[in-house]
Amino acid sequence: MKMSRLGYFSEFLLFPPLLVFAMLLAFRSSTPMQPFRMAGFYVAGLVAWTLIEYLLHRAVFHHAPILSRIHDLHHDFPQDLIGTPGWASVPIGLILFAGPLCAVFGFDLGVAATAGLVTGYLWYVFVHYASHHWRPRRNSYLYRARLRHARHHHLSHSGNFGVTTGLWDHVFGTALKTQASHRADAK
Ligand SMILES: [Zn+2]
Ligand SMILES: [Zn+2]
Repeated sequence: MKMSRLGYFSEFLLFPPLLVFAMLLAFRSSTPMQPFRMAGFYVAGLVAWTLIEYLLHRAVFHHAPILSRIHDLHHDFPQDLIGTPGWASVPIGLILFAGPLCAVFGFDLGVAATAGLVTGYLWYVFVHYASHHWRPRRNSYLYRARLRHARHHHLSHSGNFGVTTGLWDHVFGTALKTQASHRADAK
């Protein structure tokens, strides 16, 4: 599912204005205002994304029918723009996350948690893109992310599933051993 540059980055055009609009509505509907709880839910959504990212990559992208074939294509052609178009991810986000979160926690807190999840997701898409297309400064965050992801591509497909963070690979014992001689060459 090779995409145009506009299609690949369409989520960066669609999600932010939707989130800003939803957050404005959430602030207006929040009576009484609970900015600290909303901030807490936003951060919780952000952290939750990193676990979802890990589980998606480990359990779904490498094992689910159809999606694993698309992910195999990414492994074969890592620089091709293979991703999820915004017209698909926006309704998926609404149905799987925004709807249930608002139903359980109320509109304001549900929107805050969804905003955290979406921020984490966009950060993941960006870091993954940069891992394959940029050559970041040595020892920077992006350099370490690129090195970690390069090991997933070139050393073993059964480890280093986290893209934005290696935290969950350490928690679940899937972190690939560091090889000092291994270069961050994900191309
Ligand atoms: Zn990759
Ligand atoms: Zn993979």
